[in-house]
Amino acid sequence: MRKVANTVERKGRLLSFLSAVLPANIPASRLDKRPKAPTNREEFLLDVEEGMKLAPMAVRLTPHILSVADWSNPIDDPIRKQFVPLASTIVEDHPQLSLDSLHETDDSPVPGLVHRYPEKVLFLGKRRRDRFVWLLLTSMSLATSNCPVYCRYCTRSYAVGGNTDSVLKTPMKPSKRRWETVFDHIENTPAIQDVVVSGGDSYHLSADHLRLIGDRLLSIPHIKRFRFATKGLAVNPIRILDDRDGWVAAFVEISDKGRVLGKQVAMHTHFNHPHECTWITELAARYLFKRGVVVRNQIVLLRGVNDDVATMSTLIRKLADMNIQPYYVYQSDMVQGVEDLRTPLSTILELEKQIRGTIAGFMTPSFVVDLPGGGGKRLANSFETYDRASGVSTWKAPGVTGEKVFRYYDPIERRL
Ligand code: SF4
Repeated sequence: MRKVANTVERKGRLLSFLSAVLPANIPASRLDKRPKAPTNREEFLLDVEEGMKLAPMAVRLTPHILSVADWSNPIDDPIRKQFVPLASTIVEDHPQLSLDSLHETDDSPVPGLVHRYPEKVLFLGKRRRDRFVWLLLTSMSLATSNCPVYCRYCTRSYAVGGNTDSVLKTPMKPSKRRWETVFDHIENTPAIQDVVVSGGDSYHLSADHLRLIGDRLLSIPHIKRFRFATKGLAVNPIRILDDRDGWVAAFVEISDKGRVLGKQVAMHTHFNHPHECTWITELAARYLFKRGVVVRNQIVLLRGVNDDVATMSTLIRKLADMNIQPYYVYQSDMVQGVEDLRTPLSTILELEKQIRGTIAGFMTPSFVVDLPGGGGKRLANSFETYDRASGVSTWKAPGVTGEKVFRYYDPIERRL
């Protein structure tokens, strides 16, 4: 694993970075008038320290992400909101929230693999406290539990990243022995056609490990396509352009081999806000396009970050212009500890209503809810019922779980 130089991940380093870049007086939020909000640099630093004690995710920020945040307006900045917790913004969790809201650990036939859909698996794996937990993608396992950044809202906050004061985690290192168990399951299950290699983040696999996983999957006749999930392009794009770095060369090699074999190898990345798309990002995306790499993006809908039509439309267009397929917009999962970032279902319904038809259909993302409890992804507008007063919506996933009813709960606006 090659670590990104000058990554900020310890409390002391984060606080000294913030001390250097924050203004003496912190502008009040235009979006959120709460009495506890910090008004000066010292109060802001204390707020961050208290926020880190409550957060389920550790803090890790790349230089690229540090450089695109607007530190002169840190309370409202959409990048700060995604990566640096503030105690004063925390709101009470809905009682139905959990750390593993998608019940990925219930769908794991072997360690490091989530197998929920008949044809697809997710490749991951993680030990939490004393037990293994398994995560699903559509048909492969958790390759690593590290990422170049740690997102506050991560669906796998029970497993990904270092321990926090509120969640104990055990690191999942790349392990050929563990992967063999996953490969055996895939090889012996001909129904599986589609694999997601996730975690964690594939950017934290070495080039050799990337090749090993890619070559092994390409060699399994019933695997028709697979994708590597990585936020790397969004948070450390310079690596794509660094010809001393073997990771991109390995990725292009696997993608080329797949094309020769008639199998699609794709990169799934994760931009949430237009500010994350810089001129370096554009060069990196153009390089991948020129080398024939298919790149798709998955946006997570987050309150105060991208929950308005102008921001979401701008992001989708920027992605399309970089030849990155705007694949999904996800309703925030019902994950504990980040309720301040979750929107009601009505927000994603309204965004789709306003945006669909304004951008070419093949560049319009699917607006989806990943059903709490393991029902998989459903189009947001395909709910069975939605009571806007109580905030409860119901869903069915006939192709996956028959007539079972799943419920999504809108946030309750109660502050701590
Ligand atoms: S990059 Fe993905 S897996 Fe990693 S912390 Fe962010 S959301 Fe979680």
